[in-house]
Amino acid sequence: MNIGKPKIIAGAIGLVMLLVGANYGQFEVVEYGLRVEAARKADHWVQQFFRKTPDYVILLSTKEFSAAHLARLQETAEFRDIFHYQLYGPSGRLVVDQASGSPAPNAAGDALAQNVLRSGKAITSVGSPDQLLADTLADTTAAGLTFIAKVILPIRRADGSIAGVALAHVDQSEIRAAFQTATNTLSIILSSIFTAALGGLFIGFVVARKREGKSRRHVDFLAKYDQLSHLYNRAGFKEKLEANVASGAMVPARMVVIFLDIDHFKHINDTYGHKAGDGFLNHVGQTISRCLQATDFAGRFGGDEFVIVAQRNDLAEAGRLAEELQSAISTPIIVDGETISTSISIGIHFENNQSLSFDQRMHKADLALYQAKADGRNTHRFFTDELELGIARRRKVEAAVLNGLNQGLFSLAYQPLLREDSLKCLGFEALLRLVDTDGESIPPEEFIPVAESVGAIGQIGLWVLNTAAEAACTWPAPLTVSVNLSVRQFADGQLAASVKQTLATTGLEPKRLELEITESLLMDASIDADAQLSALRDIGVSIAMDDFGTGYSSLGYLWKYGFDKLKIDRSFVIGIEERDVRAREILETIIVLGHRLNMVVIAEGVENEAQAHILSEMSCDQFQGFLYSRPMPAEDLPGFLLKNATKNSEQGVTGESRYSGPGAGQV
Ligand code: C2E
Ligand code: MG
Ligand code: MG
Repeated sequence: MNIGKPKIIAGAIGLVMLLVGANYGQFEVVEYGLRVEAARKADHWVQQFFRKTPDYVILLSTKEFSAAHLARLQETAEFRDIFHYQLYGPSGRLVVDQASGSPAPNAAGDALAQNVLRSGKAITSVGSPDQLLADTLADTTAAGLTFIAKVILPIRRADGSIAGVALAHVDQSEIRAAFQTATNTLSIILSSIFTAALGGLFIGFVVARKREGKSRRHVDFLAKYDQLSHLYNRAGFKEKLEANVASGAMVPARMVVIFLDIDHFKHINDTYGHKAGDGFLNHVGQTISRCLQATDFAGRFGGDEFVIVAQRNDLAEAGRLAEELQSAISTPIIVDGETISTSISIGIHFENNQSLSFDQRMHKADLALYQAKADGRNTHRFFTDELELGIARRRKVEAAVLNGLNQGLFSLAYQPLLREDSLKCLGFEALLRLVDTDGESIPPEEFIPVAESVGAIGQIGLWVLNTAAEAACTWPAPLTVSVNLSVRQFADGQLAASVKQTLATTGLEPKRLELEITESLLMDASIDADAQLSALRDIGVSIAMDDFGTGYSSLGYLWKYGFDKLKIDRSFVIGIEERDVRAREILETIIVLGHRLNMVVIAEGVENEAQAHILSEMSCDQFQGFLYSRPMPAEDLPGFLLKNATKNSEQGVTGESRYSGPGAGQV
């Protein structure tokens, strides 16, 4: 049967059309798949920042994207094959252009963004870079890419409202090329029949492989960053530092290492809750990022400890960075409806010493931070060699103070208080001594402030009180014991109760205990000195104002609190020999005033007869000083008392004093 030429031609045309149609369908399916895949990548990227991190949504309006914010956006964009992106704010204006770094006017982009803002629908197109990108962008950003997708999608807040628009150019070259290679090896007929299914399967396979690789990289990415502060974690920080030093981006000679610690961070957590604490850490992280330059980076090493590495030319520049950080971080912020603000302490190391390892630099910055905290916080300190020595010393003293009670390093020395006219001993002042385990005697002027700052003075002071009271019980009545009190011992309001307890357990008569306080107590607004002093007076102990003349020397306080005794500081006594008429007049006035206010007046630090003579002429009631005895251990007291009593009976002094105010009976 002759089918005829036209029929053969028609059949061939039909077959060709079938094949072309099927192939066309195959490419349709592939392009559809590539579009969906690109839209999914862009959407995930946008979700990660803008839906999960509200701070980024705010930045769309404020336009204050820091280098660190952009670095994170960039890093995660790359991870999703996004090689170029733009962000548009809620008004449709360009906020960030990844290619130019800074936003430039872009009418075309703005129009697209407006479109998406209005419709709320994403627009995705695929094609070659030449088709989809402007020439300059294609040359610079998409060089080497063969097939890309352009996704313009709305950025939504958690509540679904639109906060801006993202434009992402996604590299699809690899997936597309893989597909083409595969299809070339298939026969045209097979590809015509199975295109859609195979294409889908193949894309699925390639995508799954890529996704697996990407997930692994995503985990690596998360492993490098601290999720709260958005800064590097310890591992990421180390990696970044090594990379920057190796590449020459970080020059050791210009390296500044900063240790930063939030003052009283525990208080924020305790007062406002951990959520607010996390919010504050986030604030600190973001503020640090904003203050840094492109060469600098920072990490959070756990808790409230932040480390910054920066490149600066000199100490002054490093100091300016620290000041900027201090003022920016301590600006109050609102977290969860609560206004939170606190200061920070900063330690800085900057030294042109090439041989220092990074760990050594960190250690030195940490020491400087320790000093900043010891100096009262809310400040910054530079590392110096002297500072290192000072800190080593302070640590030794701290250890001695903290272990002193357990290891028996503390003891009391007693210095006699004598009547001016008869030089009869009236009692002793208990003076604390600390001898370290290596035999070194640490002076009280050094260890008492340390004990106060580490919070150990309460316990130590209690030990002094009990030990002195126990000792006084072994002395003949009515000899008194004077105990020095630190302001910190008044802080918890329990002092009167402790004194009562001590008197009860030792059996010491209250009138034989004298407590010495300094003016600093009366000036500390956080302490209710009035109530506590009157509670102590109710117990029956006497109260002396110590070191009068060194502090505020307020006569008003003397009058208000009505102390039993006024102890004139040693520095006044030193001055009186030098025929300084004014100094003498002041001293005399203090003594007269003390008497007028019914106080016993005692002079401390009497070292020679000349001083004693002048003080006697001024009618000072009692003396204490090396002229009569240095502070001595408890076991030397019986010998001293014996000698003192013998001297008195030899001189036949009657013991009468010209003074008749409180304490006059203590003879
Ligand atoms: P303070 O209470 O004014 O004690 C008098 C200090 O002057 C003592 O020094 C004593 O040794 C010294 N001194 C006495 N007479 C003379 C003298 O003639 N010449 C010279 N150069 N010095 C003299 P110390 O024992 O070194 O105590 C220093 C300070 O440490 C005390 O000054 C007191 O403020 C504090 N302190 C001592 N023990 C305690 C304590 O148990 N608790 C508290 N909170 N502070 C204490
Ligand atoms: Mg004293
Ligand atoms: Mg004193």
